[in-house]
Amino acid sequence: MHNKAFLYNITVPQNITVPQNITVPQNINVPQNKTVLFNKSVLSINGGENFSMKNTDYISWDQYFMGIALLSAKRSKDPNTCVGACIVSEDNRILTVGYNGMPSGCSDDEFPWERDGDMYNTKYAYVCHAEMNAILNYNGTGLKGSRLYVTLFPCNECTKAIIQKGIREIIYLSDKYSDTPGVMAARRMLKSAGISTRKYENMDYKIELTL
Ligand SMILES: [Zn+2]
Repeated sequence: MHNKAFLYNITVPQNITVPQNITVPQNINVPQNKTVLFNKSVLSINGGENFSMKNTDYISWDQYFMGIALLSAKRSKDPNTCVGACIVSEDNRILTVGYNGMPSGCSDDEFPWERDGDMYNTKYAYVCHAEMNAILNYNGTGLKGSRLYVTLFPCNECTKAIIQKGIREIIYLSDKYSDTPGVMAARRMLKSAGISTRKYENMDYKIELTL
């Protein structure tokens, strides 16, 4: 039932995929009568010593930071649009995070979440967007050269702050308001300021968290 693999009498369980680039290190002698078992992180010699190999089932930087943005969005009280943002340095350190919500001291239960009506009675007059919150939450020395991961393409107001803080790239999930004047204005400013935008693609890695 087992597939024969390279070197000695190595057998591989059928339910495990062995990466093409795995090789048995030269300095390890696999006894002729032993079986080598692979899993995602450990190469073990049945009946003998084990030696570790690195886990190959890890997420990319893009997945990691967009994952943080998505998790941050889970804090939002907005009944219609929960947005999260994560800003990272050029060397992939998380600098700050944010989500859309009412300003501090403005109760989530007292201020309106309505979308229709006069501005005074809609959320648009009050909610601080995720990108803006991430920028305002930052207490470090600067965001110059950083990247913004955000679950929704920024509006024109956040874009002004993004440009002024020196953020150099925006990676976004949804662009569902791309035809609105605000987002069109945002793109116009970003293009003029030389800030690149990139749609996050290939959402095929599912993670289930129990919290
Ligand atoms: Zn905004």
